[in-house]
Amino acid sequence: MQVIQYPHPTLRHKSRPLKRVDAQLRKIVREMFDLMYEHRGIGLAANQVDLPYRLFVLNLASDPQAADEEHVFINPVLLNRKGSTEAEEGCLSLPGLYCNVRRPETVRLNAYTFSGEEITLDLDDLFARAVQHEVDHLDGVLFIDHLSPTAEAQARDALRDFELEFASRRQRHEISDDATIAARLAELEKLRT
Ligand code: ZN
Repeated sequence: MQVIQYPHPTLRHKSRPLKRVDAQLRKIVREMFDLMYEHRGIGLAANQVDLPYRLFVLNLASDPQAADEEHVFINPVLLNRKGSTEAEEGCLSLPGLYCNVRRPETVRLNAYTFSGEEITLDLDDLFARAVQHEVDHLDGVLFIDHLSPTAEAQARDALRDFELEFASRRQRHEISDDATIAARLAELEKLRT
């Protein structure tokens, strides 16, 4: 398992709700946490590890010792978006790029836990921002899609570098073509959604 980087097409995949949660998925989620800690992230969505599942993991402390801060949100839905606030964001799929992003200040998150329990959380601050960033991933949206014209101009060179790197990795056959990637995601989706 590895974190895929912009502009990998799986990052644009809109994932469908999961219908089956099993031991193998539990193992995948554990690996996602470990990978997230390795990269010092606070959140990681399934399509960032090239999987079409509607779930993400989160630990705002980014600390494997703080196990009580670990959250897995399955089939998350955002409601009651209120207010507007701007703060800097980064993303493990765009390493090294940080931009100001304007988002609603508070949100209500509805999701399922691994035990099948439905939860509702009213969130603000970093928790609200991180959850919005991760739910965006599951809809194929990246934080660079929310930039102001000024921030977008500042990010342009970095995005071009990611695109060139991706193209050269593809030329070296380290990344499959779009059709192969789409077929693999469809196959995985068939089993769990
Ligand atoms: Zn991200």
